[in-house]
Amino acid sequence: MKNVSVIGAGFAGLTVSLELAQKGFQVDLYESSSRVGGLLGTDYTEYGIAERAANALIRTTKANDLFARLGLTPSFPLESSKKRFLFRDHPRSWPLSFSESLSLLARVVPRLLLGKRHLRPRPQETLEAWGKRLLGPKATRFILGPAMQGIYGNDISGLSASLILGPLFRRKKKDKYRGLLTSRGGMQDLVDALEKALRDKGVRIHLNTAPDLASLTGPVVIATSAKAASALTLSKHPELSQVLGKIRMSSLMSVTLFFNKAQTSYQGFGCLIPRGYNLKALGVLMNSYIFKDRNKHYNETWIMGGYEESSLLDLPDRDVLKLIAEERFKILGHKESLLDYRINRWKDALPYYDLQLEEVSSLLMSQNLPSGVYLHGNYLSGIGLSKILERSEVLAEQIAGTHG
Ligand SMILES: Cc1cc2nc3c(=O)[nH]c(=O)nc-3n(C[C@H](O)[C@H](O)[C@H](O)COP(=O)(O)OP(=O)(O)OC[C@H]3O[C@@H](n4cnc5c(N)ncnc54)[C@H](O)[C@@H]3O)c2cc1C
Repeated sequence: MKNVSVIGAGFAGLTVSLELAQKGFQVDLYESSSRVGGLLGTDYTEYGIAERAANALIRTTKANDLFARLGLTPSFPLESSKKRFLFRDHPRSWPLSFSESLSLLARVVPRLLLGKRHLRPRPQETLEAWGKRLLGPKATRFILGPAMQGIYGNDISGLSASLILGPLFRRKKKDKYRGLLTSRGGMQDLVDALEKALRDKGVRIHLNTAPDLASLTGPVVIATSAKAASALTLSKHPELSQVLGKIRMSSLMSVTLFFNKAQTSYQGFGCLIPRGYNLKALGVLMNSYIFKDRNKHYNETWIMGGYEESSLLDLPDRDVLKLIAEERFKILGHKESLLDYRINRWKDALPYYDLQLEEVSSLLMSQNLPSGVYLHGNYLSGIGLSKILERSEVLAEQIAGTHG
C-alpha cells in the first residue's frame, strides 16, 4: 500500500484524507492540536448550539454526496432564511432607491446581453474598483461591499476581483443544487462523522503532532493555513516558504448571543453591514430564522474583525458584548437581554483575498512546487467549505495519478 502524509486536520485535511484512503492509500494525518476539525466545531450550551466558525456548506452535488457517504442526515435552511437584509440606515431587503436600481440595470443588462465576459474583472483590480466600473458607486457600497465582506471578512477596497469573481467566469455547468446544508447537531456532527469514517478506513490520526517535513517520506499534503504552511516549509523548501509568507492573514471573531426573547422585526438569514457607518460589525446571522432545531432560545451570531481590525480580537469579553449591544441597537433597534454567549476569536485564521494573494497564487500551482509536495487549504481554491471539498477530490486524483 502506498503511503501519504497529510498535515493539518481541518476540513481540507480531513476531506483529502478521506479521498486518498478511498483510493487505497495508507494515510497518516497529523494535527498539531488536540482535536480534528480546525476552524470547524460547535459549542453546546443549555440555550442551544453555537457554531465556532462556519455554520453551513454551500449545497453542491459533492457536498450532498459527502453527507450521504458519511451517513449524515442533512439539515436544510428554513423558508424564513430566504429573506436577507442589507443595512442602509436600517436593515432593508433591497437597499437601492428606484432610480439607483434603474441605473444599476442600465449598466449591467447591456453588458450581459453582449456576453458575461464583458463583466470579467481585470488583473490586479480590486472588487471596489470592479464594482464602481461596472455596477456604479451605490450598488458597490450597499450591495457588493457588504455581501463580499460578509464572506471574505474584509473591506472590498482591498479584495481582489479576479480571485473572487474569476471562478464565476470559468464555471461550466451549473450545479443542480442551491442553498446551504448543515447537520442537525451543527458542524461538529460533520467533523465527528469525518473522523469516524477516516478511522474506519484505517487512516492513522496523530493528534498533538506537528511533524518535521524532513522526517516524512512519500507524498505530503500540507493542509494548514497559509501562515502555518510557510513556517512548515521554511527549512526544507525556503523558496516556497517565502511565497507562502507573502499571504497576509486576517483575523475574525464570531460571537453567538442567546436572548431571552426573539426579535421579530427582521426575520431572515441576517443583515450585512456596509462600511462607512462607523460600525465594527461586518454582519449578523439570525440563526433561529436560518436553521431548524436552533430556536430553543433565539440566537444571533455577530461577525467582526478583518485584516485592518484584528485588534478587536484583543478586547475582553465584557467590551465585546458592550460594543455589540450598542451596534445591535443602532442596526436592529433592539435591546433584548442576554441569556448566554460564546465568543470565538480566530487570530490569523483566514487568508486575505487581496491583490497580494492574486499575485502569488499562480506561483502556488502544482507545477511550481517541489516534487511530492501538495498544498491544500482555504487560500488556494476559495475560502468556503464546498470549494475546499472540490479541491480535495482534484488533489487526490492528482496524487493517485502520480504516486498510485
Ligand atoms: C467566523 C468564520 C465563519 C465562517 N463561515 C463559513 C461558512 O458559513 N461556510 C463556509 O463554507 N466557510 C466558512 N468559513 C470558512 C471556513 O470555515 C474555512 O475556510 C475552513 O474551515 C478552513 O479549513 P482548512 O482545513 O483549510 O483550515 P483550518 O480549519 O485552519 O485547519 C488547519 C489545521 O491545521 C492544523 N495545523 C496548523 N499547523 C500545523 C502543523 N504544523 N502540523 C500539524 N497541524 C497543523 C491546525 O491546528 C488546524 O487544525 C468561516 C470562517 C470563519 C473564521
